[in-house]
Amino acid sequence: MHFADLGLIPELLQAVTGAGYTEPTPIQQQAIPVVLAGRDVMGGAQTGTGKTAGFTLPLLQRLSRHANTSTSPARHPVRALILAPTRELAVQVHDSVVGYARHLALRATCIYGGVDMNAQIQELRRGVEIVIATPGRLLDHVQQKTINFSQVEVLVLDEADRMLDMGFIPDIRRILALLPTNRQSLLFSATFSEEIRRLADHMLKNPQLIEVARRNTVSETITHVVHPVAAGMKRNLLVHLLRHKPDMQALVFVDTKLVCGRLAHFLERSGIAADAIHGDKTQQQRTETLDAFKSGKPRVLVATDVAARGLDIDDLPYVINYELPHTAEDYVHRIGRTGRAGRAGNALSLVSPEEKHWLVEIQKLIKFEIPQEHVPGFDPHVETADPAHPERLKRSTGHREEKHPRREHTRPAPAPMIAADGLDFSKPYEPANTAPEPVAATTEPDASPALVATPHPPTKHRRPLAVLLGGLGRK
Ligand code: AMP
Repeated sequence: MHFADLGLIPELLQAVTGAGYTEPTPIQQQAIPVVLAGRDVMGGAQTGTGKTAGFTLPLLQRLSRHANTSTSPARHPVRALILAPTRELAVQVHDSVVGYARHLALRATCIYGGVDMNAQIQELRRGVEIVIATPGRLLDHVQQKTINFSQVEVLVLDEADRMLDMGFIPDIRRILALLPTNRQSLLFSATFSEEIRRLADHMLKNPQLIEVARRNTVSETITHVVHPVAAGMKRNLLVHLLRHKPDMQALVFVDTKLVCGRLAHFLERSGIAADAIHGDKTQQQRTETLDAFKSGKPRVLVATDVAARGLDIDDLPYVINYELPHTAEDYVHRIGRTGRAGRAGNALSLVSPEEKHWLVEIQKLIKFEIPQEHVPGFDPHVETADPAHPERLKRSTGHREEKHPRREHTRPAPAPMIAADGLDFSKPYEPANTAPEPVAATTEPDASPALVATPHPPTKHRRPLAVLLGGLGRK
């Protein structure tokens, strides 16, 4: 099938050709005719499927009758509103809209928080047909009466499931209440929880359900691997993997902002160019970080789920789950950053024994078992005192001892722990004479200096109470 078969006008066909697209993706094939016909859509599609063009191209075509080059703001009322959960996604959608609209006299602007409102107010005053916005800042403009919704014809809610995760649903409902009721509405989500369905019922009229691939399925071009590893050895394993594959460029997912910054710092100290992206960074920092990562510097970007949502990075070869997400659907979201548009991708997960139940949930969702590869020198059952994660050690200890009380006593002694780079993990950490920064002994400035990797059973004697209380090693 060709884009021309979908009934798109020449201006849009020209833009699509300019973007280098030869044929529409499955979501585009399904969504474009339905949106062109003016129907509401409930779209089940994850990032990487081409859904942005799937709703933007027909939206632009529907608005093309209003295209004009007048300088009068009155000739450019807001006619389409696209809501996105994060600044990054909003910027990305805006870039796509501008690209696809390049041969049409329609204006678009992007509105998000964390930056001064004045520039946005100026843009809105000049008149603009398409507004791409995050919900919070859009409501700020509503409050200041700097935006008028009376002419809105089309509403798009992108990544509704993430909106829900981020607590934006009340904001969305407030915005919905301000829009004309005789509009066209499109809702896109990678997953459909009960709450999303309720929102869809409220927002959509007789929608056409469009789903590409089964819900929660992952791209077939992605190779999945699980590396079992003790929680306290994860960062060392990560360094080991990155050193082993010098051209590995990876987006590394962690659960919290704290781990995000610390891990990036640890990688830097281990000689691996890394940066962190999380919700606390300013918009400018996030944009700069992302641009630098896109250009290959740094090699590693450590991210939280919220910050990484919607990142469109072409040709990202690796996604690494440093910590498994706590909802299986987030695994699908995370790895959607690799293996895009038919390209090959790799999804590696560093999984400690206490995370196995998350892995079970993920495998249930994606409906296949992820192959496990043990990296020599990284025994998942050899606990270490990782000062950055005392709480993990605590959880791990309780979990394993309750579940497998006998294994603690009957397991044979582990093989000598010599890492591929020659480091002997069975030897206690020696602060002196360890240059250049050894994998197992690198420290963080804000963490305890001694990261001790010892074989079982000595670890057992070292770890208990002091580590659980955050001590041990802070001598
Ligand atoms: P999205 O799912 O909208 O985030 O798009 C994922 C990526 O696919 C983006 O980099 C788009 O530029 C690209 N893309 C969208 N449509 C097509 C197409 N028909 N052919 C090739 N690439 C596409």
